[in-house]
Amino acid sequence: MHWKQIVDIIETRGQTRFPILECQERFFGRFNQTPQQITYNQLMLENFENTAGAGGFFNDVMQTCSVDVLAYYLPFHGSGDWGIYILDAGVDRLADILMHINPNMLRHDAEYLAKHNLLLHELGHHAVEIANTSLEIDPNRNRRIPGAYRETRIPGLAGFEFHENEEAVCNWNVKRQKHEFKIRALDYFDPITNFMLRQPPGYNRFGEIQNSNLLENILNTRLTGPIQPETRSNLHKEFFTHSTLPRVRPSSAHNSDIGFTVPLYLIRTDNRMRR
Ligand SMILES: [Zn+2]
Repeated sequence: MHWKQIVDIIETRGQTRFPILECQERFFGRFNQTPQQITYNQLMLENFENTAGAGGFFNDVMQTCSVDVLAYYLPFHGSGDWGIYILDAGVDRLADILMHINPNMLRHDAEYLAKHNLLLHELGHHAVEIANTSLEIDPNRNRRIPGAYRETRIPGLAGFEFHENEEAVCNWNVKRQKHEFKIRALDYFDPITNFMLRQPPGYNRFGEIQNSNLLENILNTRLTGPIQPETRSNLHKEFFTHSTLPRVRPSSAHNSDIGFTVPLYLIRTDNRMRR
């Protein structure tokens, strides 16, 4: 999918409020800092140690909302500034958790791992939106299915099932890129796995996701009907292209097939997350 197609969605999306995930709804009131756009390199260079305080706030909400309270994704189908939002305190909290799992880990390395974990999980949400959007917009390649993405945000029980499946896919997206968790030739994917297995239902089912059931976990197949092989392979390609770290690096804008970088925002919580 190319930037021009995303601009088309943004220009035609109208004023109707787009449903956001319940956890985000509950959580948004807890901070009103103005998010600041940040590059991948700036994010990696900053150190967020001690921004989460003792982490009491996160311990409560992570029982149900898991990693999406540490960072979150706002879709381009929505009305706000779309992109990946990283909380300084979220990085700090996750770095602490990882150091608790592996006490030999250096703080600097834990931050690097935490940032990559959050980015890859949220890129999973972005790639889910891209795959659904491909069904919505392309009259030639797929049967055009308007509202495909909105369907995955239905409130109520059905929506909850979609949400859990999508979270499993997003953590699987972390797992499938375990090479991003190597530091100085040491593999730190075990603590990441450990952290993901402790997460709530849905999030912790990432081991069940495979290429063969990816689409069934991110599309409403009651709406789309059976997905034909050619469409399947196109949607896979879209998901895999848009779910990797190069998509948050500025050079992505120069990729002629893509033409954009997923916007990154940093929220400085100024210690307001302390309970
Ligand atoms: Zn998520």
